[in-house]
Amino acid sequence: MFIRKDYQQEYYQKNKKERLKYAREYHQKNKEYSRNYYKRYNEERREEVNERNREYNRDHKKERNKYQQKYFQKEENRERRREYMKSYAKDYYQSHRKECLDNLKRYFKTPKGRLALKTVRHNRRTISEKCSKLTIKKVQLVYERNISKYGRLVCALCNKPIKFGEDSLEHFIPLSRYEEFPYRDLNALNNLGISHRKCNSSKGTKTLEEWRNKNM
Ligand SMILES: [Zn+2]
Repeated sequence: MFIRKDYQQEYYQKNKKERLKYAREYHQKNKEYSRNYYKRYNEERREEVNERNREYNRDHKKERNKYQQKYFQKEENRERRREYMKSYAKDYYQSHRKECLDNLKRYFKTPKGRLALKTVRHNRRTISEKCSKLTIKKVQLVYERNISKYGRLVCALCNKPIKFGEDSLEHFIPLSRYEEFPYRDLNALNNLGISHRKCNSSKGTKTLEEWRNKNM
Protein backbone atom coordinates (compact mmCIF):
# COMPACT_ATOMS: atom_id res chain seq x y z
CA MET A 1 0.00 0.00 0.00
CA PHE A 2 1.22 3.45 -0.75
CA ILE A 3 1.42 5.57 2.36
CA ARG A 4 1.94 9.20 1.88
CA LYS A 5 3.66 9.77 5.20
CA ASP A 6 6.27 7.08 4.58
CA TYR A 7 6.95 8.46 1.19
CA GLN A 8 7.42 11.92 2.59
CA GLN A 9 9.75 10.69 5.23
CA GLU A 10 11.79 8.78 2.69
CA TYR A 11 11.90 11.78 0.45
CA TYR A 12 12.99 13.95 3.31
CA GLN A 13 15.76 11.58 4.35
CA LYS A 14 17.03 11.31 0.78
CA ASN A 15 17.16 15.04 0.29
CA LYS A 16 18.11 16.01 3.80
CA LYS A 17 21.27 17.84 2.85
CA GLU A 18 19.65 19.95 0.18
CA ARG A 19 16.64 20.70 2.29
CA LEU A 20 18.76 21.83 5.21
CA LYS A 21 20.79 23.96 2.88
CA TYR A 22 17.63 25.44 1.47
CA ALA A 23 16.24 26.10 4.92
CA ARG A 24 19.44 27.82 5.96
CA GLU A 25 19.43 29.98 2.86
CA TYR A 26 15.80 30.83 3.37
CA HIS A 27 16.50 31.76 6.95
CA GLN A 28 19.45 33.95 5.95
CA LYS A 29 17.35 35.81 3.39
CA ASN A 30 14.39 36.24 5.69
CA LYS A 31 16.17 36.75 8.96
CA GLU A 32 14.02 39.64 10.07
CA TYR A 33 10.84 37.82 9.20
CA SER A 34 11.78 34.60 11.01
CA ARG A 35 12.95 36.47 14.03
CA ASN A 36 9.67 38.33 14.28
CA TYR A 37 7.73 35.18 13.62
CA TYR A 38 9.38 33.30 16.47
CA LYS A 39 9.14 36.29 18.74
CA ARG A 40 5.41 36.51 18.11
CA TYR A 41 5.03 32.76 18.45
CA ASN A 42 6.83 32.76 21.81
CA GLU A 43 4.85 35.70 23.10
CA GLU A 44 1.51 34.22 22.16
CA ARG A 45 2.28 30.84 23.72
CA ARG A 46 4.55 31.95 26.52
CA GLU A 47 3.29 29.52 29.17
CA GLU A 48 3.41 26.57 26.82
CA VAL A 49 6.85 27.49 25.51
CA ASN A 50 8.25 28.04 29.00
CA GLU A 51 6.97 24.70 30.19
CA ARG A 52 8.40 22.95 27.16
CA ASN A 53 11.76 24.64 27.66
CA ARG A 54 11.83 23.77 31.34
CA GLU A 55 11.09 20.16 30.55
CA TYR A 56 13.71 20.04 27.84
CA ASN A 57 16.33 21.64 30.05
CA ARG A 58 15.58 19.21 32.85
CA ASP A 59 16.10 16.24 30.56
CA HIS A 60 19.18 17.60 28.82
CA LYS A 61 21.03 19.35 31.59
CA LYS A 62 24.44 17.91 30.82
CA GLU A 63 24.38 18.49 27.09
CA ARG A 64 23.04 21.94 27.61
CA ASN A 65 25.79 22.95 30.04
CA LYS A 66 28.41 21.60 27.70
CA TYR A 67 26.92 23.44 24.76
CA GLN A 68 26.63 26.67 26.70
CA GLN A 69 30.21 26.47 27.85
CA LYS A 70 31.40 26.06 24.29
CA TYR A 71 29.07 28.77 23.06
CA PHE A 72 30.26 31.36 25.54
CA GLN A 73 33.90 30.70 24.87
CA LYS A 74 33.53 32.90 21.83
CA GLU A 75 33.76 36.60 22.59
CA GLU A 76 31.27 37.41 19.84
CA ASN A 77 28.67 35.23 21.56
CA ARG A 78 29.36 36.82 24.91
CA GLU A 79 28.94 40.19 23.25
CA ARG A 80 25.67 39.09 21.65
CA ARG A 81 24.36 38.00 24.99
CA ARG A 82 25.34 41.28 26.61
CA GLU A 83 23.48 43.19 23.89
CA TYR A 84 20.43 41.00 24.21
CA MET A 85 20.34 41.27 27.97
CA LYS A 86 20.69 45.01 27.76
CA SER A 87 17.86 45.55 25.31
CA TYR A 88 15.57 43.09 27.06
CA ALA A 89 16.38 44.35 30.52
CA LYS A 90 15.89 48.00 29.75
CA ASP A 91 12.19 47.52 29.04
CA TYR A 92 11.78 45.09 31.86
CA TYR A 93 13.42 47.31 34.44
CA GLN A 94 11.48 50.36 33.35
CA SER A 95 8.18 48.62 33.88
CA HIS A 96 9.22 46.68 37.01
CA ARG A 97 11.52 49.12 38.75
CA LYS A 98 9.90 49.00 42.16
CA GLU A 99 9.55 45.25 42.08
CA CYS A 100 13.23 44.76 41.18
CA LEU A 101 14.47 46.99 43.95
CA ASP A 102 12.04 45.53 46.48
CA ASN A 103 13.34 42.08 45.62
CA LEU A 104 16.85 43.27 46.33
CA LYS A 105 15.83 44.86 49.61
CA ARG A 106 14.11 41.66 50.68
CA TYR A 107 17.23 39.70 49.74
CA PHE A 108 19.43 41.84 51.97
CA LYS A 109 17.21 40.86 54.90
CA THR A 110 17.70 37.12 54.37
CA PRO A 111 20.67 35.36 56.06
CA LYS A 112 22.48 34.98 52.75
CA GLY A 113 21.92 38.60 51.83
CA ARG A 114 23.17 39.73 55.21
CA LEU A 115 26.23 37.59 54.69
CA ALA A 116 26.89 39.25 51.34
CA LEU A 117 27.03 42.59 53.11
CA LYS A 118 29.05 41.22 56.01
CA THR A 119 31.91 40.19 53.69
CA VAL A 120 32.16 43.85 52.96
CA ARG A 121 32.83 44.79 56.55
CA HIS A 122 35.70 42.33 56.54
CA ASN A 123 37.24 43.82 53.41
CA ARG A 124 36.84 47.30 54.75
CA ARG A 125 39.12 46.54 57.67
CA THR A 126 41.88 45.03 55.54
CA ILE A 127 43.16 47.93 53.50
CA SER A 128 41.21 50.85 54.71
CA GLU A 129 44.11 53.32 54.49
CA LYS A 130 44.83 52.62 50.82
CA CYS A 131 41.31 52.83 49.44
CA SER A 132 38.10 54.63 50.07
CA LYS A 133 35.77 53.02 52.56
CA LEU A 134 33.62 50.21 51.36
CA THR A 135 30.38 51.13 53.00
CA ILE A 136 27.32 48.97 52.98
CA LYS A 137 25.53 51.79 51.23
CA LYS A 138 28.09 51.72 48.44
CA VAL A 139 27.77 47.99 48.01
CA GLN A 140 24.02 48.27 47.91
CA LEU A 141 24.48 50.82 45.16
CA VAL A 142 26.63 48.38 43.18
CA TYR A 143 23.81 45.85 43.45
CA GLU A 144 21.21 48.44 42.45
CA ARG A 145 23.23 49.52 39.45
CA ASN A 146 23.64 45.94 38.34
CA ILE A 147 19.91 45.32 38.63
CA SER A 148 18.99 48.56 36.91
CA LYS A 149 21.15 47.58 33.98
CA TYR A 150 19.62 44.17 33.45
CA GLY A 151 16.43 44.01 35.46
CA ARG A 152 18.02 41.25 37.51
CA LEU A 153 21.42 40.40 38.89
CA VAL A 154 23.80 39.51 36.11
CA CYS A 155 27.36 38.32 36.52
CA ALA A 156 29.93 40.93 35.50
CA LEU A 157 32.30 38.12 34.54
CA CYS A 158 30.26 35.53 32.64
CA ASN A 159 27.24 37.73 31.85
CA LYS A 160 24.79 35.07 32.96
CA PRO A 161 22.04 35.74 35.49
CA ILE A 162 22.83 35.25 39.16
CA LYS A 163 20.42 33.71 41.62
CA PHE A 164 20.21 35.48 44.94
CA GLY A 165 22.59 33.72 47.29
CA GLU A 166 25.08 32.92 44.54
CA ASP A 167 26.24 36.51 44.27
CA SER A 168 29.41 38.13 45.48
CA LEU A 169 31.05 41.50 45.35
CA GLU A 170 33.65 41.56 42.63
CA HIS A 171 36.73 43.79 42.65
CA PHE A 172 37.85 44.00 39.04
CA ILE A 173 41.34 44.71 40.29
CA PRO A 174 41.51 42.54 43.42
CA LEU A 175 42.25 44.18 46.73
CA SER A 176 45.19 41.84 47.18
CA ARG A 177 46.93 43.54 44.25
CA TYR A 178 46.64 47.07 45.63
CA GLU A 179 50.39 47.54 45.81
CA GLU A 180 50.65 47.31 42.02
CA PHE A 181 48.03 49.99 41.53
CA PRO A 182 48.93 52.64 44.07
CA TYR A 183 47.19 55.34 42.06
CA ARG A 184 43.85 53.55 42.01
CA ASP A 185 41.11 53.47 44.56
CA LEU A 186 40.14 49.82 44.42
CA ASN A 187 36.99 50.41 46.41
CA ALA A 188 35.74 53.01 43.97
CA LEU A 189 32.49 52.20 42.21
CA ASN A 190 34.22 51.73 38.87
CA ASN A 191 36.25 48.86 40.29
CA LEU A 192 33.24 47.09 41.74
CA GLY A 193 30.72 44.70 40.26
CA ILE A 194 28.58 41.73 41.17
CA SER A 195 29.53 38.27 40.04
CA HIS A 196 28.78 34.64 40.73
CA ARG A 197 30.72 33.39 43.69
CA LYS A 198 32.03 30.66 41.45
CA CYS A 199 33.23 33.12 38.83
CA ASN A 200 34.70 35.35 41.51
CA SER A 201 36.76 32.56 43.00
CA SER A 202 37.83 31.28 39.59
CA LYS A 203 39.12 34.75 38.87
CA GLY A 204 40.99 34.67 42.16
CA THR A 205 43.77 37.24 42.35
CA LYS A 206 43.72 38.01 38.63
CA THR A 207 42.69 41.38 37.32
CA LEU A 208 39.70 41.49 35.00
CA GLU A 209 42.00 41.86 32.04
CA GLU A 210 44.17 38.91 33.02
CA TRP A 211 41.09 36.81 33.64
CA ARG A 212 39.54 37.67 30.27
CA ASN A 213 42.75 36.91 28.42
CA LYS A 214 42.92 33.54 30.08
CA ASN A 215 39.28 32.71 29.47
CA MET A 216 39.18 33.54 25.79
ZN1 LIG B 1 29.38 34.30 36.46
